[in-house]
Amino acid sequence: MSGRQPDIALLADGDELEWGNVQFEFAGRLLRYISKRVQDHQAREDILQDTFLGALRGIHSFNTAYSFEQYLFGICRNRTIDFLRRRTVRGLGGEEEDSIPALERLAVDEATPSQVFGVQDMGARGRSLLGDVLKAWVAETFEAREWQRLKVIELLLSGEERNLHVAKELDIQDESAVAGIKFRALKRLSVLAAAEDQSGKLRDEIVQTMAGSHVGIDMAVVWEEFKASCPDRYWWARLAKGLCPADLADYLEFHRDRMDCAVCQANFEDLKGATENLGPVVARLQASTIVVLRESS
Ligand SMILES: [Zn+2]
Repeated sequence: MSGRQPDIALLADGDELEWGNVQFEFAGRLLRYISKRVQDHQAREDILQDTFLGALRGIHSFNTAYSFEQYLFGICRNRTIDFLRRRTVRGLGGEEEDSIPALERLAVDEATPSQVFGVQDMGARGRSLLGDVLKAWVAETFEAREWQRLKVIELLLSGEERNLHVAKELDIQDESAVAGIKFRALKRLSVLAAAEDQSGKLRDEIVQTMAGSHVGIDMAVVWEEFKASCPDRYWWARLAKGLCPADLADYLEFHRDRMDCAVCQANFEDLKGATENLGPVVARLQASTIVVLRESS
């Protein structure tokens, strides 16, 4: 459920206008993400510039299994961690380093998310298929406004919580009701998987996961890697303006705060603070990119 995809072919061609567009579109949310982790204003802007330079260098091998937003946030996260790590080495770090969760620290040693999670036995294609299946399931559940079901599965598969815990947290009668929701969801996932992957291998993996006998796929890792349940920015804009019905708002807040989604937090805060003037930052960003684009053409 991601928004408009920029024209990757144009970006790969070094089209200044399209790069300008994506910088205008994404600078705010990336800066929010960086600002939560880095206090120094100049350093924030440097990291933002580095992020786009990294995006520019890597665009020829852009993997369409990810959205462009995920691509940018992946680079931005690594640049942020690099910066914090350098500060720590120089003895300037401290409190900021503590704000980076363990998984994020792990990622800095690797070039792409798929390499980080390359230990799974399904390979990159299998994970990307599973990512599609999870997203499809989330999309239909979202559309059906089955918020409770979505929360249960997000807590179980993404949060790796136990049935009993989920029952307590969501005020569900007992854990067998949670187990029932999980069973039906995995069954539906296996149907979606069969449609997505003709070989049947992915479906078998999900069925085995259902039986609790298989540890081949790490659902939580794939869920996170493909941002399976991140609502479109459109919904964050609605929430920021107070235009969401209570049940939807409740789910969005659950995803953002309870599931602690850094990308959605950055999007929401960006939209909330939209009055802030990012113009000069974006202008400097665009100027620095144009220099690189012209040098390399
Ligand atoms: Zn999210």
